[in-house]
Amino acid sequence: MVQPIVLYPDPILKKVCRPADWRDPQVQQVAQDLVDTMQAGPGVGVAAPQIGHDLRIFVVDVTPKHPGHGLLVLLNPEMVGKEGSVTGREGCLSIPDFTASVRRFSKILVQAQDLQGNQRILESEGFEAVCLQHELDHLDGILFLDRVSCLKTDVFRRKGVQPRFDPQEYPQGAQS
Ligand SMILES: [Zn+2]
Repeated sequence: MVQPIVLYPDPILKKVCRPADWRDPQVQQVAQDLVDTMQAGPGVGVAAPQIGHDLRIFVVDVTPKHPGHGLLVLLNPEMVGKEGSVTGREGCLSIPDFTASVRRFSKILVQAQDLQGNQRILESEGFEAVCLQHELDHLDGILFLDRVSCLKTDVFRRKGVQPRFDPQEYPQGAQS
């Protein structure tokens, strides 16, 4: 089912999420809700804390607009390889007020479980790799504004949106 998106500064967005057990029916439900929520909205990825669950699950699908693996549902993902760097403009469904320039690795290896408990390793680059890093961060309570090197010059107000807070007062790096 499509779920409402949790918005910053909800404290769940700053939590380090707990491991997800694929045998737990709640985990399967959260995964399905993430898929439904992503497909109903403008986002190319949604992580469990963004729909109110502190579980290490996210979904990403950058296709067909960008090359990628199609729909990815990842449980307990970890970045096990990384190289290069790329700086691009990012946004987040939980912070609809702003976009920002963020530096990421350009190519990564991610190890994760699927919904049947199979371990897999995924190689990703380009826009998909950036999205995966953004969603990986969500599972550790890190938002894209935490990755901005200068809150004064690298954050941009979205057109037609009245910002709910001053980005220069965003408490970078704070998490519990
Ligand atoms: Zn996000």
